Amino acid sequence: MTRPLFSSTIAGSLPKPAWLAEPRKLWPAWQLDGAELAQAKADATLLWIKAQEDAGLDVIGDGEQSRQHFVHGFLEQVEGIDFEHKVKMGIRDNRYDAMVPQVVSELRLKGRVHAAEARLLRAHTQRKIKFTLPGPMTIVDTVADRHYGDRVKLAMAFAELLNQEARALEADGVDIIQFDEPAFNVYMKEAADWGVRALERAAEGLGCTTAVHICYGYGIQANVDWKASLGEEWRQYEQVFPALAKSSIQQVSLECFHSHVPPELMRLLDGKDVMVGVIDVASEVVETPEQVADTIGEALRYVPKQRLLPCTNCGLAPMDRAVALAKLQALAEGAALARQRYS
Ligand code: ZN
Repeated sequence: MTRPLFSSTIAGSLPKPAWLAEPRKLWPAWQLDGAELAQAKADATLLWIKAQEDAGLDVIGDGEQSRQHFVHGFLEQVEGIDFEHKVKMGIRDNRYDAMVPQVVSELRLKGRVHAAEARLLRAHTQRKIKFTLPGPMTIVDTVADRHYGDRVKLAMAFAELLNQEARALEADGVDIIQFDEPAFNVYMKEAADWGVRALERAAEGLGCTTAVHICYGYGIQANVDWKASLGEEWRQYEQVFPALAKSSIQQVSLECFHSHVPPELMRLLDGKDVMVGVIDVASEVVETPEQVADTIGEALRYVPKQRLLPCTNCGLAPMDRAVALAKLQALAEGAALARQRYS
């Protein structure tokens, strides 16, 4: 099937309205509970579907309005996870502390995880839809294991569950399933050794398009400080992209605009669709369409135009809502401008 040149999309999350959850927080508390919360999540999802369409994006997501956090949203439906007794753990190689649930027994899905939001999304847009799930390696890095005792075994157990949910999402009508693996940029050797293998297990047998998002994290202070420590050139992708290029995953989402990633590393993804980050999620300054088109132009030196998909660098969850909306518009307008310039 053909798609428009420079088909645009978001990495995943969008800010939650203040009536749904605490604004501008990464792990926000819900403002409601029970049936009211379920309705409010659906309302917020509808609102963002409309906003993405109005902005002019080509591929629409649910903005992750129904999950408190991109990893823990999935884990809440997994048997064998103790959410009652969260523990403080340094995550992403101790970059920052998080309160994480514990793996206490054999893992099993309690049932469907994201059926409601995926079906809502499918029912309310005619455009292509993308659904995001956390990748196995990133999940392993965001829980405290008290049962498996081996990161690879644990990752494969999660991959199995992710695969079940991914197949069901495909049956719900999802066009693109994207796994989020920020941990790939932290444990590069392990990512190449077994992270990509676990990811392929999670995507096994899917007939829809498969994608992976690898980033330098949300625009929170701990990440801003970490990025400042990474030096002039961020070459993390260099260690992981060759393994991904050989994998069955079809699309790779990466950071570009305002990052210190040498753009020529995109060449390592020969044969893949490349979701190029043209929107900075760590700055409140809204990009101009010209800047977005310029970033696309720069990436075209390394990625064939049929394979280039403009995207945000990461999720927009902890951002100001109005700023996020303006950034979606800049993304779509910049993609349209690039179509004029580079067609
Ligand atoms: Zn990200």
